[in-house]
Amino acid sequence: MGKLREKASSVRGDIPVDDQSFEALLDLLEVQDRLKSEYAGTLDKLDLQAAKEAVESGRPASTAVGLWLSEGEMGSAVKAIAELLLKRVPGEAASVQAIVDAWGSGRLKLAEVAKHMLAGEVSEADNLADEAGVDAAAMKTLVAWSLQPAYTALSERLIGEVDLSGWRAGRCPVCGSFARLGFVDRGGGSHLKCQFCGTEWSYPQGKCPFCGNDDPQLVTVIDAGKGKPFKLSVCHVCASYWKIVDERMVEGEVPRALYDVWTLMLDIAADRLLG
Ligand SMILES: [Zn+2]
Ligand SMILES: [Zn+2]
Repeated sequence: MGKLREKASSVRGDIPVDDQSFEALLDLLEVQDRLKSEYAGTLDKLDLQAAKEAVESGRPASTAVGLWLSEGEMGSAVKAIAELLLKRVPGEAASVQAIVDAWGSGRLKLAEVAKHMLAGEVSEADNLADEAGVDAAAMKTLVAWSLQPAYTALSERLIGEVDLSGWRAGRCPVCGSFARLGFVDRGGGSHLKCQFCGTEWSYPQGKCPFCGNDDPQLVTVIDAGKGKPFKLSVCHVCASYWKIVDERMVEGEVPRALYDVWTLMLDIAADRLLG
């Protein structure tokens, strides 16, 4: 992780956030890296064979494994992330502390929240926040950041054991999220990279991950310019965008775990473009 921090510093100039936010981000990556190692031990509970079979039949592994973390495991992960937010993001301290307290007193069941979020049942998750008297947006962010390293651990376990060559979708074969991030490797191969769990898979260049549109007339590709290895693609069928890092233009080595943060300028540009 020391290496990731060092590499992040080397691309600091490309990332349009203030120093305090940047430090908070590095701390978050560090805590998540530690949680990933802790979560790796919990994977033994899982039916990994079922997860592999799901992927090989075209369904994300998450549909076969669901949430395997206990309430205690979810709670300690949320507490670890809350601790760094309390230190680094004082403006959010009150809402973060309220979530930790609600969990501590048993009013908020984080594993239940996580299950709803993984199932895409956002309003059910919001209801649990309301019942516990906590801020729903802060709660969902904390839970997502806590789940992320669990799914990264799952991805790292499955990769190499599962054949992804038949995976054609723009959503992640492990966690099921749509990918807004891709890269072209040094050999010219095109891939998507899940921003949630880090899984990488081959995906045709110029094809929208969200709707599958691959008509070059209906996809605009915008170069970030100034020698940056970034391209922003916009789909005119579904009005989505995605970001590409062209590794053939990358000097030195930047870990792919940093690509999503490294390309933040493209998200800002896309927000302006798509309103
Ligand atoms: Zn994923
Ligand atoms: Zn599209």
